Parts: sequence; C-alpha cells; structure tokens
Amino acid sequence: MKNIVDNICAVRAQITRAAHLTERPPQSIQLLAVSKTRQADELRQAFAAGQHAFGENYLQEGLDKIAALADLAIEWHFIGPIQSNKTRQIAEHFHWVHSVDRLKVARRLSEQRPPGLPPLNVCLQVNISAEASKSGCLPDAVLELARQVAQLPGLQLRGLMAIPAVSTDAQLQQQAFAALRTLLQQLQTELPQLDTLSMGMSGDMEAAIAEGASIVRIGTAIFGPRTYPSNTQEDSL
Ligand SMILES: *Cc1c(COP(=O)(O)O)cnc(C)c1O
Repeated sequence: MKNIVDNICAVRAQITRAAHLTERPPQSIQLLAVSKTRQADELRQAFAAGQHAFGENYLQEGLDKIAALADLAIEWHFIGPIQSNKTRQIAEHFHWVHSVDRLKVARRLSEQRPPGLPPLNVCLQVNISAEASKSGCLPDAVLELARQVAQLPGLQLRGLMAIPAVSTDAQLQQQAFAALRTLLQQLQTELPQLDTLSMGMSGDMEAAIAEGASIVRIGTAIFGPRTYPSNTQEDSL
C-alpha cells in the first residue's frame, strides 16, 4: 500500500538533497503535487501532510476537486493542454497556469480573469525538444510571445515550463533543462520580473533542480503509478 504522507516526506528529502548538490537553497524549489486521476480524499491526505499546491491536467476533473476541497486553502495550478473555448473556467478557478503556448489563449485568460482576483500567474510552455507531437511554443517564438503576454493586464507572466522528450539518458535530460534555463535567462534581460522555471517530474527532478528548476511537478512519486485509459496520449495526461 502506498502511503502518501511518507512519499511526500521522501520527495521533500530528495529535493533537499538535489538542492544541496548544486548549492541551492532547498526553499527556492517549490513542490507541486500533480494530482490528475487522483481522488479528492488523496489530495486531502497530502494537504494534511503540508502539501498545499496541486496541479491538474483535465479541466472538468480539476473543477470537481476544487469544489470538493473548497474548505482547504489550496493553490491550484492548471498544467494540461488548453482548448481556447475552455479558458473561462481556468481563469476563474485556478491560481496558476503552466501551459500557455499561444497568444489567443493568453488573451482570453486575461480578459476572463475576474476583476476581484489578483492576476493569474502564467508560465509559457516551451516545446524544448521540438517534438512534432508535443504542445508548447517553439523556442524561436518564445521571446515574441513573452513580450505580448507580459502586456496583458489579467496575467502575471512568471516564466517557462517544459516537458522534455522522455529519455533515460541523464545527459540528454539535463541538456533539455539547461536549454530552458538559457531561454529564461534570455527573456530576463528584457523581462527581469520572470522568476519561474517549471520543470522536472518524478523521473528527472534531480536533473531539473541541477539546472535551476523553481517548481518541480511530481505525481507518481507522491501518489503512486497512475492507470490511464488505453487510448490517451502521454502528452495530454
Ligand atoms: C503528469 C504530469 C506530471 C507528473 O508526472 P510524474 O511522472 O507522475 O511525476 C508533471 N507535469 C505534467 C505536465 C504532467 O502532465
């Protein structure tokens, strides 16, 4: 039987170790618990263990959990592909969006952010390995997109997010994370307020932290393996 509380402790220890290896303060790395496919009571257990930020990929599933857990002060992050006709509920119910990859979606999120709420924190998703099948803006187009998104009043542009090509080669993993870090540094010369690199999952968080990750998105290592419907693509999970 998996134990969510023990798993969270183990992941936190792993983050601390990885931070020390590259002489980074462990508090500079935020743990985002990726809770897609998980039941509300599993999130409740994680919350009781001090985990207050959760990431969801599917809008309806996320909205159901936001409603079921309305009594908890959770910071909700949307990390899945965004259909432009579904932006309103994201703008109304989430605190962060990591997967903005085009201006149309950014404009809608900005317009639809309720005026009483602080600007929605957003990261631009970059297709860092330039894979044909992946969502995300291509690296060449990021600067222009960032300039435009930074102007939108309902959004606070925070940084970049990537899901690199799956690789068991630690060096290749690290190269992709380094490329995202370099891209953020380039943007920071014009947009110095950017402070977020959302990168690293259960299988590659050490490499991501070594390259400067400020948010690691961890699902399996906290909640155990997921069971997917057989026809879903990994990119949309
Ligand atoms: C599912 C998912 C994760 C978490 O992956 P694990 O390997 O389970 O840690 C992180 N980021 C995104 C965008 C995801 O879809």
